[in-house]
Amino acid sequence: MAITVQAAADPTPTPPTPLEAKRPAASVAAPQPKAATPGNAKVDAKKAGKKDEKPKILARDLFGKAQSAADLAPRSIGWYAKGCLAGGVHLADAGPDWQTMRPSRNRAWGHPKLIALLKRLASESKKDGWPGLLVGDISQPRGGPMTTGHASHQVGLDADIWLTPMPNRILTRKEREDIQATTMLDKTSLAVDPKVFTPAHVALIKRAASYPQVERVFVHPAIKKALCQAAGKDRAWLYKVRPIWGHYYHFHIRINCPNGGCEAQPPVKGDDGCGKEVTDWLKSVEASLKKPEPKPGVKIVPDSERRRITMDQLPAECKVVLSSPAARQPADEAMAATPTGSTKK
Ligand SMILES: [Zn+2]
Repeated sequence: MAITVQAAADPTPTPPTPLEAKRPAASVAAPQPKAATPGNAKVDAKKAGKKDEKPKILARDLFGKAQSAADLAPRSIGWYAKGCLAGGVHLADAGPDWQTMRPSRNRAWGHPKLIALLKRLASESKKDGWPGLLVGDISQPRGGPMTTGHASHQVGLDADIWLTPMPNRILTRKEREDIQATTMLDKTSLAVDPKVFTPAHVALIKRAASYPQVERVFVHPAIKKALCQAAGKDRAWLYKVRPIWGHYYHFHIRINCPNGGCEAQPPVKGDDGCGKEVTDWLKSVEASLKKPEPKPGVKIVPDSERRRITMDQLPAECKVVLSSPAARQPADEAMAATPTGSTKK
């Protein structure tokens, strides 16, 4: 019998990095927040390994080559997991209260509304006791599918934020490339470690979820559980925080579609998710931990490898985005602080 594997709603897990390599998302079946990923079809694990007869040009290879944004008005096009971004804005490597991580990936691009929100969250995080934020992947310069990791992050409306606080100094470019994030989980991988996951984390995630334009925040089920327990009486924000695989080193925020032409995500249905939903998720996590390691020689195909989106499967406008001339970045971004000791891009 074929095993059906479903990719996580934001299979952010950035599989190739050691950060998320602990449990390949591809190896487990998740209770799926269905509405989150119309772009993610179910995949037959047996078939997934087979090569297509004709080599196809994949959209991820084309979008992965774009070095800068398309010189077009800002516009998120398509679906979070099947789309692209016109007029993307680059989040500076370092600002007063943020630094971006993994600069070599060139994924610090987003819709101007998302970039503005990230700056606001970074600034307001200080009220929650944070020295500032380390920002992970946002989108590629023109959005689109990626060669590694992330099913979503395609339209410039998704961003990963580390749960490790920003250090009180500017990291070198090498450090931003190499530093590892800290897991929030304890040894069981089923609960947060209270020595690591603190009230400051609760306050930050609550703040992010409380912005009206934020539609979803994705976290590991154990983090969701901890938030449920810490929330007290003010629980109105909790429904937006959605459990998902991975996301124990970082959380993921998704803002709403700011223009016509991108697909809105249906509102979250049901309650705050602190009852059966999170319990079921944790059962699935537990079951996945008990799964035996794959036998030697069995190749695990990462989710990112299974996704073979071609240009024809993206909105037609994405071809225009791809072929448009490169935009010059606004002066404030181009001239923003370059971390000490870094080599210029
Ligand atoms: Zn993400």
